[in-house]
Amino acid sequence: MPTTFQPCDEYVAEMALGVMRRYDNHKPLLDAKVKIDFVFALGACDEDGKRIADAIVKRGRVVLGQTRVVNLKDRAKGMGDAEIVLDGDRWPAFSEDEAQAILDHELCHIGVKTDRHGNAKTDDLQRPMLKLREHDFEAGWFTIVAERHGRASQERQQAKQLFDEHGQSYWPGLFNQQEVGPTRVSNLELVNA
Ligand SMILES: [Zn+2]
Repeated sequence: MPTTFQPCDEYVAEMALGVMRRYDNHKPLLDAKVKIDFVFALGACDEDGKRIADAIVKRGRVVLGQTRVVNLKDRAKGMGDAEIVLDGDRWPAFSEDEAQAILDHELCHIGVKTDRHGNAKTDDLQRPMLKLREHDFEAGWFTIVAERHGRASQERQQAKQLFDEHGQSYWPGLFNQQEVGPTRVSNLELVNA
């Protein structure tokens, strides 16, 4: 059986609503009453029902969720304004915290288009116009290039920039450990080199 899709259980939408209410950056989605469809993708199976493919693959990599803006025609046919597809095979294994983080991530991809007064722009169906937000970071790195070319490599330069500007966000433990002892400090210097 090829990849299949099924609507998510209602609790996924409820969890997403909780995330949107909790974090201020999602307020525009609530204000514009953006309707989001949540769908589980299930990877292809062989004849015995054994999973033989990942549910969502993007540029050759497994991703746990994928978000798109629904076009006018599909909106007219009754779909939501945006669609979030989740890896339905892996979803049951996630903790509540992990599931919320995945939903938060996907919701961060959805931006509401606004006019110069800050009001949501609407389409011909009076539905909010949306734009897809890109990730803050996307790493396209070869470890072997970082090793071969060191500081001259984009790999190392981008890693350094990430560490210098957002290290606290991605490696909080490393930063907090600075005062603990010399071993930890030398770890820090290594990464920062
Ligand atoms: Zn993403």
